[in-house]
Amino acid sequence: MFHHSASVSHPAAGSATGVLEPGAADSRDAICFQRCTWCGTAMYHRLLCPVCQGSDLRTERSEGIGTVRHSTVVHRNTPAARNVSLIEMAEGFVVRGRVMGPPVGIHSGDRVRLSTAKDPVRGEPVFQLVDEPYRAWT
Ligand SMILES: [Zn+2]
Repeated sequence: MFHHSASVSHPAAGSATGVLEPGAADSRDAICFQRCTWCGTAMYHRLLCPVCQGSDLRTERSEGIGTVRHSTVVHRNTPAARNVSLIEMAEGFVVRGRVMGPPVGIHSGDRVRLSTAKDPVRGEPVFQLVDEPYRAWT
């Protein structure tokens, strides 16, 4: 599993520049990401730009709207199934999180909106489906 505890829930701990605001109370309902000031690439929890290797990153706040890129139902070792999804945010970065609703009802292409930036139990973003019937059945 990729999480053992909540010990990775403080990304600011790995930031030497201190650009992240650990005390920002209202950040819990928004996902903060990094954008390269050189080439404009948006990224999530990176210390270097994956495109130009630049380290001059500034923190921005996501609008919280995204699209499901991939969704996996996890039901082993848990009494209730849940999904683990990769969400491509409108700003262009991808985060791993959970989408509320029936685990088998989440499909690639579904539009989602951020519900909670950090699940109190798992510390991962939680999304909810935008009421949007469009799906790319292919
Ligand atoms: Zn860059």
